[in-house]
Amino acid sequence: MKTFCFKIYNSKKNRYLHNQISLAGEIYNHCIALHKRYYRMYKKSLNAYSLQKHLTKLKKLDKYSHWNQLGSQAIQDIADRIDKAYKLFFRNQKLGIKSGTPNFKKRRNYKSFTLKQAGYKLLGDNRIKIGNKIFKYFKSQDIQGNVKILTVKRDKLGDIYIHIVTDFIETRTAPRTGEIVGFDFGLKTFLTASNDNDIESPLFFHKNNVAIRKASRKLSKKQRLSNNRRKARKSLERLHKRIANQRNDFHWKLANELTDKYDFMFFETLNIKAMQMLWGKKICDLGFYSFMLKLKYLASVKSKTVLCLGRFEPSSKTCSVCGYVYKYLELKEREWRCPECDTLHDRDRNASYNILRVGASTLGLGDVSPLATMAISA
Ligand SMILES: [Zn+2]
Repeated sequence: MKTFCFKIYNSKKNRYLHNQISLAGEIYNHCIALHKRYYRMYKKSLNAYSLQKHLTKLKKLDKYSHWNQLGSQAIQDIADRIDKAYKLFFRNQKLGIKSGTPNFKKRRNYKSFTLKQAGYKLLGDNRIKIGNKIFKYFKSQDIQGNVKILTVKRDKLGDIYIHIVTDFIETRTAPRTGEIVGFDFGLKTFLTASNDNDIESPLFFHKNNVAIRKASRKLSKKQRLSNNRRKARKSLERLHKRIANQRNDFHWKLANELTDKYDFMFFETLNIKAMQMLWGKKICDLGFYSFMLKLKYLASVKSKTVLCLGRFEPSSKTCSVCGYVYKYLELKEREWRCPECDTLHDRDRNASYNILRVGASTLGLGDVSPLATMAISA
């Protein structure tokens, strides 16, 4: 599966797509209302089949006849999505995990609709027919494989994109290097490497934070519902979008570089909640999670290995030389001396050694103690 994403030309015609997305939002909210009523009455979930049948009936009524403007597959997709969300909710409830039922969405916050086989057609060049209208898009690359799913999305700036999922399986060649590495995530140093080839967080992360704070302050000073406020909000959203693009580029480049350089990469499984508690919202800016998705994708394409280890071992608290566990290590301590073997540890570096060791032994790659790996990388 590969997803191709293109921007649709801005044009007056796009109103049609905006209306379709809003209509999808209206149907979504209607389904949510039905589910909620059903849940209140019977304390269980309305199944997808009954919902689908009900929706088909509604579409025949005058009051809901406009729903027919949206492809029937898009409606089915909405029903399926809500069904999945409810199933997740009930599963969580059983496991005692706190989570809410899916909820209503404001029309302008509703973002997309999805079609599977029908309701659209790719025409020649850069044209696509959606519903009964033809749109042009910026075709930045050829679409490979058979199209399986089309999603039409709008962003907060009102631009419309198409996401085309195909069955294409991408493969790329990358040299086998025999290189093995353990990485520890961090704020200032994005990745601390067991072989000292660290990846620093790009400076623009910090600069962007400053710019965002400034733009938000500007927005908050504008009068509510004023034209100036609308403009300030747009410029804040534009900034968010530019930052997201910058971050994406950085992630892709780095993922490409690492998957060229290393055959085996080990990480600790991300615990976003714990990281947020440690570092506040900054970790969202760095986007560790979305970086890992890209890295894993490229690794699979190039037949390299990325392994995330369970959090069974306190990697920063365990001495990578003698295995002593220093229980009292506090967050602010960037260095610590092992009372057992007297080694002075840099907190993150020590963690990366441990991640490497556990990863390598999990895969049976032999001795990768710090000294041995330093010899490999030298
Ligand atoms: Zn020690």
